[in-house]
Amino acid sequence: MAAWLHVTPGMDTKPEKCAHPACICSRTKDSKYCSAYCKAAADTTELTCNCGHAGCGTEAVLTAQS
Ligand SMILES: [Zn+2]
Ligand SMILES: [Zn+2]
Repeated sequence: MAAWLHVTPGMDTKPEKCAHPACICSRTKDSKYCSAYCKAAADTTELTCNCGHAGCGTEAVLTAQS
């Protein structure tokens, strides 16, 4: 309901983030994913991404240690 929350349904105008739910990387121009790893893992529900890109996955794991 927040007026500042502007979302455009159906339009692919979001930042070009990898389509893998757990991945924070930018996708490649010709793919919905940042890497072949994410494309292969897209059907798998993962808590963290293991694409290997800097700042993705590993960082989240380290932060989540408890
Ligand atoms: Zn990733
Ligand atoms: Zn990815």
